[in-house]
Amino acid sequence: MIMRPIKRFPALSDADNLRYKIIFLNNVFTFSGVVSFTMGVIRWNVHPFIGKVDIAFSLIAFGLLWALHRDKKNIEFISSIALWLCFVQFITVYLLAHGNSTRSGLLLLILAGAFYLKGRQMGYYMLAILLLLVIGNHSTQWFLSEYSHLDILSLCFYLLAQFFIIRNYECLRESQTNHLKALNTDLEALVKQRTEQLAAANTALEIEKENLKTLSSTDHLTGLSNRHYFEAVFTQHTPKVGRKFSDALILIDIDRFKSINDTHGHLLGDQVIKMVAQCIKKNTRISDIAVRWGGDEMLIYAPRITLKQATQLAEKIRQQLNNKPLPPIGNISISCGVAMLHLEDSLPQLLHRADQALYQAKQAGRNQVAIYGSE
Ligand code: GH3
Ligand code: MG
Repeated sequence: MIMRPIKRFPALSDADNLRYKIIFLNNVFTFSGVVSFTMGVIRWNVHPFIGKVDIAFSLIAFGLLWALHRDKKNIEFISSIALWLCFVQFITVYLLAHGNSTRSGLLLLILAGAFYLKGRQMGYYMLAILLLLVIGNHSTQWFLSEYSHLDILSLCFYLLAQFFIIRNYECLRESQTNHLKALNTDLEALVKQRTEQLAAANTALEIEKENLKTLSSTDHLTGLSNRHYFEAVFTQHTPKVGRKFSDALILIDIDRFKSINDTHGHLLGDQVIKMVAQCIKKNTRISDIAVRWGGDEMLIYAPRITLKQATQLAEKIRQQLNNKPLPPIGNISISCGVAMLHLEDSLPQLLHRADQALYQAKQAGRNQVAIYGSE
């Protein structure tokens, strides 16, 4: 009969379970060996047969102890041997030698240990039943009446010793389980903290990424989209070209900007560019793209709009700027060229038409809006 593997204490790791089983068996074998040897020596002259069995049993107990330490992986096998030895000893000593109760104490010591290790807690029950039987029998003299008081006392001593060995084992196991639980809790808290830190770092990274994206697509001076961004968006964009609504491009250029720079300096020139950009931003829809094309030139790409609406938009911006003097420069004027998107248009083609309209506005005296193809 080979024992099944122990499944009783799932809270312990395999290594710890093995460690505690070894501690337990150590106690059992050492205790059995020492007691059996002492009894054998004491009884050798009185009952030579029993004395020899005692000594033999103690040697076997020490042999098991040695085997246990030689190879700890054999623990299940050694437990099985201990269990079988109990029966052998029971037959040879308890029955043949007739009523020597100290052997039944040793028998139970091993038997209970083996059962306990097998994970059935049978050890506790057997201890209790045997204690009751022995004390009951001794007081009623019902069976094997030749037990001495000393026999009964020593048996009770064994049983109690067995009880404490098991208790000791359980305490060790419990403290280890608690320790493991505490470690687990610490670990969980640490994992939670790290996860939160990681999530925060991820969010910061995402924000940083967004910022970088915005930065790379934005003109630093005006905050409008830059040329590079617009070119990329235009190539990915599926333009809507209908009979009435289409996409429009309004090209805006500040009039005589060079002379503003020359007269008032570059810093004020920058102010003028920013002011025009602000006005453009204020008047465009979310779907429109406002771009600083370069220098004093800006554009609005307005999807799904009529030519009339696009022209009105340009005119509105022009008027607003023209009616808001910027000291010490005075009134700012811009010229705008409006062109509608054609089917299969490329960006350079569309830009070219808007540029032609702008040129037209400049030619006509500046501070006005011109539509491509309207001259
Ligand atoms: P026009 O009415 O024909 O447009 O005349 P203009 O003087 O405005 O001529 P143009 O548009 O060619 O002049 C653009 C000037 O804008 C040239 C350059 O010195 C200036 N400029 C380009 N970028 C900047 C900038 O970022 N800041 C400032 N202050 N000036 C710039
Ligand atoms: Mg200009």
